[in-house]
Formats: sequence, structure tokens, C-alpha cells
Amino acid sequence: MSNKNVYVVNWLHHDDAHVLWLEKQPEIQAESNELEAAKDCLCELICDHLGDSEACLELKPVNYLDLAEWYALRPIEQAGLSNEPHSIFTKGRCNGCGYPLGERNEVLLNSANKLKNGVGFFSNTRPYINYYSEALLTQLTNLFGTVFNTRPILYKGEPTGYVEILNAPDVHYQLHKGVKADSKLRTTFKCRQCHRASFANSEEEALAVEALKPNSVNFVRLSALNTLMLVLDSKAVQQINQKLRLHRFSAVPVQVMPEEQLYIPTDLPEVEHINWR
Ligand SMILES: [Zn+2]
Repeated sequence: MSNKNVYVVNWLHHDDAHVLWLEKQPEIQAESNELEAAKDCLCELICDHLGDSEACLELKPVNYLDLAEWYALRPIEQAGLSNEPHSIFTKGRCNGCGYPLGERNEVLLNSANKLKNGVGFFSNTRPYINYYSEALLTQLTNLFGTVFNTRPILYKGEPTGYVEILNAPDVHYQLHKGVKADSKLRTTFKCRQCHRASFANSEEEALAVEALKPNSVNFVRLSALNTLMLVLDSKAVQQINQKLRLHRFSAVPVQVMPEEQLYIPTDLPEVEHINWR
């Protein structure tokens, strides 16, 4: 019997995805939402690239907090908003692109569902609005001195212990220089009616690293579909105690680049109407 080669494989599990790559050759990488499928795929790649059809994998879990510097506190729940879509902004919504006109008004958000965990989002509004447990924000204020401007969210007319954050984003996503906005995405457009310019390119969006403050909560617009995300450096994220249910969120790495390598595209396709359904 021949001796099988043993390959040390880094194994990252996040957001229901299993990512595997060879420690010595990270370019040989496989991903699936099933661990077994990711392993099978990696074995096929090893056979293709290295000519070894009997590879034996030794999985080594890696903590994603070790891999990148900046993280968004992403939602792990979603809910529906029961407010009429046009009723929560001072000038309603654009008939063309469906995005808000004017500012967020004083009307309180009403959830159609009971809210859970630390961070979630309302999925039936453009852009999405995140909701946060007051308990999580209190913890962030205690750790980092962050001043949140918030408004309570109701469920069946009663307070929920959850709020929306009204602070405006200080940092906005941009595109890598040399990459165009993806015109196949509905979030890339120049609206003929309200003149809103919106751009997206899901793989090539990043934040200017110079704009982010360490050991602090950064208010960030991370994509065209999102109103506001909280972004922290890896050391700061690790200080948050997520053991309690009300503190839970998903810490997802954020792409950052030097400001000089990023830009805001202006060459966008004009649209008359966007059908979001
Ligand atoms: Zn519009």
C-alpha cells in the first residue's frame, strides 16, 4: 500500500460557509456551505494541481479575527417593517428608483416581527435599515465612549428594547480604481427622476483605510443597499462580550485599501424606474 500525503488545510467557518485552503499553497482553495463538499472540492483541486489523487486532509481551524483588521457588525436576523415605505422620510420616496427622498422623519419604526439578538435588519425597505438592541449599544458606549443618536422601534405599538441608529455615516464605500460599477446590478444607476447616483460592484468595493479610527465605533455606509453599518478594528471587536443573546451579531471582515487606490464612479446608466420585486 502506498503512503498517502497529508496536507495541512486551514479551515475557516463563517456565515454558513466553509472555506478551506492549503496552508503551504493558499491559492488552492475551496468553499461550500457543506464541509464535506468543500473537502471533496479541495481534493479535486489537489488532484488537478498537484497530481495527487489520494490526498489526506488535516484540517486546522482558523479564527477569522486573525485574518483581517476591520470588521462590520453584521445583522444575524431579519424582520419586516410594517410602516408604509414612503411614510418614514420627510419627502417620501422616489417613484423612479424607490430610494428615500429627504431625511428620516420623526415617525417611529414599527416592526412586523418580534425582534431578537443584537443586530438585525429590515429587509423590505430600500436601502435596508439595521436595528440594534439597546443592550449592545450600551456596551459599545461603555467600551468606546460612542455617542449614539437613536430612536426606539415598536412592535404592536409597544417599545421593544431595539433602536435604529440615526448617526450619519462618516465613511463611504468606494470602488477600486480601474474597476467600473457593475451595470447589471439594480443598485448601479443614475435616476432620471430624483438624480440619485448609486453604484455597486460586489467584489470590488472597499473603504479607505485612512478614514477608519481604531479602538472606536466607525459609522460606515458599506454598500448601496445599506444605510449604516458599525465597523471596528479586530482588537475592538474582541472586547465585545457576545455571550448574551442581546449582544449577538456576525463580525464580517471589511475590505480596506489606501484612499489613493479608490474612487467614486460617475459613469452610470440612467434609469427611469427600478422594479425591486
Ligand atoms: Zn430616484
